[in-house]
Amino acid sequence: MSIQLNQPVAVQTLLNSLQRGTLSHAYLLQGANLEEQMRVVLFFLKKLLCGKEACEGCKVCKQISNMHHPDLICVKTDAATLKIEQVRELQKALSYCNVESDFKMVVIEKADTLTIQAQNALLKSIEEPEQQTIFFLLSSSSNNMLPTVRSRCQLLTLKPVGRSGEENIRLTQGEYSLATAYLYEHYYKGLEAASHEYIHNTVQHLIVLIEGMLSSQVEGLIHVSKAQGLWPSKSEQIAALSTMQALLQEVMYQVLGLQSLCRLYKDYPSIETIARENELPVIKKAMIGVEEAQRMMRSNTTGQMALEYAVLRLQDA
Ligand SMILES: [Zn+2]
Repeated sequence: MSIQLNQPVAVQTLLNSLQRGTLSHAYLLQGANLEEQMRVVLFFLKKLLCGKEACEGCKVCKQISNMHHPDLICVKTDAATLKIEQVRELQKALSYCNVESDFKMVVIEKADTLTIQAQNALLKSIEEPEQQTIFFLLSSSSNNMLPTVRSRCQLLTLKPVGRSGEENIRLTQGEYSLATAYLYEHYYKGLEAASHEYIHNTVQHLIVLIEGMLSSQVEGLIHVSKAQGLWPSKSEQIAALSTMQALLQEVMYQVLGLQSLCRLYKDYPSIETIARENELPVIKKAMIGVEEAQRMMRSNTTGQMALEYAVLRLQDA
């Protein structure tokens, strides 16, 4: 099971900041499993340095896997605590760090066992980092860290690791998906029943509608009113909302980097565009809005009114 699927939120947060050029100088990972934390960090470092999307085969990827990259320093201990001497050694090593890449990378295992003196000493390095130094503090709980250290790190919380990868996927879906498999089923049943062209046109219209809803209240309302003529009957409107939910779910998977769960984006590249341009909370809000619209329609509200309500709810934040 790939670490991207196991820890989609932590991995995607790192990849997003890499893509946007907003890397933090220090990340504080918290999670019960040290190996899992290490996997997240090493995967990210390969993405950062490999040049071939973490290919696993090149010299750099192998160096990172073996923790033998010249610019990668790992601090660890078998003792109960990490002491100030080890932080001083780290700082010395950093100043001599032979920069083969553009980055100096520090991984501190069990950072929550750093003594208070050690944390205070470390604080200086995190506060005034040399250029392009990235710290990864691995901890079982960020609460064990000094608030001054915590506040200078971006926190990444890892999901608990289940017994098997399968379970983890289900957990992820259960956690983040508001739509259900039923919606996909609905879409694909529809595909068999109606002509492919009809479904294709419907999906195109729905994508335009989603884009409008996400862009602004006015745009959203204009698109809802345009959509009115497309699906005159109530059953068509309910089917359209279900398909809309399936599309939003796919956008959400894209945002989370869960491409393997996506089924529609290859046929409809706009899904990727929507995912790139919107944050996860907005997508979730849209999904909740559409779900509410579906509920309203079942209790006799017209499709247009239900969707207008969804648009207003989405944009009132
Ligand atoms: Zn590589």
